[in-house]
Amino acid sequence: MKACQYVEIGRPPQVVEVDKPTPGPGEVLLRVTASGACHSDEFIMSLPESRYVYGLPLTLGHEGAGVVAELGEGATGVEIGESVAVYGPWGCGVCHACAQGKENYCRYAAERGIRPPGLGAPGSMAEYMIVDSPRHLVPLGDLDPVATVALTDAGLTPYHAIKPTLPKLLPGTVAVVIGAGGLGHMGVQILKALTAATVIALDPKEPARQLALDVGADHALPSDESSIEQIRSLSGGRGATAVFDFVGIETTTALAARMVHPESDIVVVGVGAGAVPVGFFTLPFEVRVWAPYWGSRSELEEVLELARSGAIHVETETFGLDDAPTVYERMHAGTIRGRGIVVP
Ligand code: NAD
Ligand code: ZN
Repeated sequence: MKACQYVEIGRPPQVVEVDKPTPGPGEVLLRVTASGACHSDEFIMSLPESRYVYGLPLTLGHEGAGVVAELGEGATGVEIGESVAVYGPWGCGVCHACAQGKENYCRYAAERGIRPPGLGAPGSMAEYMIVDSPRHLVPLGDLDPVATVALTDAGLTPYHAIKPTLPKLLPGTVAVVIGAGGLGHMGVQILKALTAATVIALDPKEPARQLALDVGADHALPSDESSIEQIRSLSGGRGATAVFDFVGIETTTALAARMVHPESDIVVVGVGAGAVPVGFFTLPFEVRVWAPYWGSRSELEEVLELARSGAIHVETETFGLDDAPTVYERMHAGTIRGRGIVVP
């Protein structure tokens, strides 16, 4: 079968021929129907050898959807032919975090070498993929896999970031989304669907600002100093009650810190090397700052329900598997609108 693999540090990914995998005991073989390309793929492919821990060759793709093709011995709970989405942050399934469905924070995944597909285990950018347990599958029902696959990360991650801030996002408040790409354009929609806050997107690229407006942002501004003044005036002088930084570089975390008021939330989702210093003299009082990773299994179900209700959708550009490396070129150039989806 064909797979898009990262083969050599510093070189672009390649489409190669590999053996079709066979599901082991308890595992599920999916015929992949769609695979999203995330900026985190680009991030790991930018790492120097000393910091690269995902194994080579690596079949990319941590946003996956497919049709159940084969069940390994003892694998139950899904049917052959069923259309499913893959919950990506695999954990051990039994520790305290996993027992709550928070496999993204599994206590043992790291030490036991349990790796998400596309981030250690072979991913979804292939004709077939192995999922280690039916527990990591969510039925898609009548949802279109190409339109929904990105919800497994570009939807789930912003949802998980936004959920704890909901009680603060009352009518009259302002929520700011920094970076209106794959995750950010979903963040805008999730905020609009779940809150009465005014949603302001910041992005240096005009097409990304237009995308934010198209999917429901109330305002879209350049990502610079000038936006701070505008955010203050759009919030009656108060500032942003929650900031979701989907870039996470020094300039954006610094910007986030300057637009908040006492008791605001700053959520750093992007994996740039930025940071928000917390201390008595650094931020308005009681600002909460955190950096979440992905989301829980039950939250993925909630995100899929939001899509099913029509409240959110992913803006997609589709590519064949042979063109998978092009998605990353386009992502690097910043010319993808929403999410690039590979359809084998
Ligand atoms: P993307 O490439 O689709 O979008 C990035 C957007 O940010 C683009 O629109 C770009 O123009 C914009 N941008 C760049 N510099 C900016 C700046 N200074 N100010 C404002 N906007 C700026 O990327 P994506 O797939 O949405 O991923 C976003 C980030 O989230 C990446 O860092 C990715 O690695 C990270 N991520 C984190 C998690 C997590 O669990 N924490 C999960 C998935 C992705
Ligand atoms: Zn991702």
